[in-house]
Amino acid sequence: MNELKLPKKGHLLRKKESLKALKRAFHRAEPFLEDYDFQELESNKRSAEDIGGAYVKLIDRLLANKLLRFIATIKVISFRNGIVTPRFTYELLPQHVKIELSRRGEIIQPMENRSSDPLLITAQTLATLRYQELKEVSVGYTTSRILKDPASYSQLLQFAYPSPAADSYASYFVGLPTFSMRDTNGELGHQAVEVGSQLLLVPSLRFCCGNEELGDGIPCVTKDATHPYGSPISLHSKEERCEDCKRGKRYLGCLTGKPACDGLRVVCGNEEFAANICIDSFGLYVTRFKNTVKVGKAFLPNLIGRLLYQGANSALLIYPIFGIERSWILESQLAEFLSANISRLERFHVEKIRTRGPGLPEKLEDFCTDWERDDNSLLIAVRELISSSEEMNRLSRADLRVVSFLKNYYKPSDFLLDRAITRGFLEIASWVPISGKIAGYRGTLIFLEGKGVIDGKKLQGFVLKRSIA
Ligand SMILES: [Zn+2]
Ligand SMILES: [Zn+2]
Repeated sequence: MNELKLPKKGHLLRKKESLKALKRAFHRAEPFLEDYDFQELESNKRSAEDIGGAYVKLIDRLLANKLLRFIATIKVISFRNGIVTPRFTYELLPQHVKIELSRRGEIIQPMENRSSDPLLITAQTLATLRYQELKEVSVGYTTSRILKDPASYSQLLQFAYPSPAADSYASYFVGLPTFSMRDTNGELGHQAVEVGSQLLLVPSLRFCCGNEELGDGIPCVTKDATHPYGSPISLHSKEERCEDCKRGKRYLGCLTGKPACDGLRVVCGNEEFAANICIDSFGLYVTRFKNTVKVGKAFLPNLIGRLLYQGANSALLIYPIFGIERSWILESQLAEFLSANISRLERFHVEKIRTRGPGLPEKLEDFCTDWERDDNSLLIAVRELISSSEEMNRLSRADLRVVSFLKNYYKPSDFLLDRAITRGFLEIASWVPISGKIAGYRGTLIFLEGKGVIDGKKLQGFVLKRSIA
């Protein structure tokens, strides 16, 4: 067992990456655990009916899990802590629960309290942790916790910077980035991310963000008294909305994929919303992260906000472009044109031109190693390239302006920057508190004093037990 280096329970529970470590440990331990037939169950409930029901449920959950095959026979049910809880045996269970239990493999074998068998202790620890993990990521558990104390929960909808109009923006400080939250009653609130303030969030699970209609937030349509935040969304999904909330809102598809609307007519579906977006004005931008030049597009009123959200140090703005389809076509044409002329940008060490920026770890490294870098001279060269080309004369009537964003970020200490590079991001996991004094921010990255860096984007959709003081 020592050779396996299985993590200790206390160690697992304290560490942020406990669940990951747990999964790895299970994987390694599985072949050793299969032959064991001990399982201890716990419950604080006292009524025989409740205890019986809980056991049946637990056993079902455990039996369904391949990693817990070491549960075999059930003989007696007893509590590990015989001092606090009165002894409870199989005989006390209601008859129908006994039948249920016997169907599921007869009798539970109690785990000895003072067993010193390291394999048994490991099995017990892993089983307890696995149960904890399953319980805490379940929607039922989360919902019941929220309903017990609805006033202290909120859903984080968005992390965003203010977005002044592109034509009036001149490299100044636009104001603090802000979390938008919706509380259990459906009320919207805002919380600025300010250096020096204390962040304390306990993420539970992600839920549907609902929709925004003409500036008003609409909670998930499946929200009701027993589902205070509507439908859950997988932590691994890129979607912010459930299927019910996406229906009739296809302009979102126009924003994220190949647009259906051509700039003159609303084609994508919902007239009311698309008319405000799909056939309105857009802007293109060129910016740089590490050795990648990124070409992008954004809804014009949000062009500056979009660049700040990405943590860009500077950008070439190209606007207005009328209609979503045209901006989409011009975005890829511009990227192709710059790729074809990449040799003209050689002196700036540009390696690739993309319509998608590099991944967040690469961006983090770029920010941490070269926070103050300004790419103005590169962007001026890009502007020259575009203005002097026949091929890009479709952009000749647009404004092309180079602006800087560095005044809008707050640089943390060199110590924190170094630490962020070596340790990467703090993991966001259910019921694992995130706390610390805000020491800096850039784009969606928030640096916490003495802790590390979190990605504010990853918190979007999470229902949190929160306080930012
Ligand atoms: Zn929904
Ligand atoms: Zn559309």
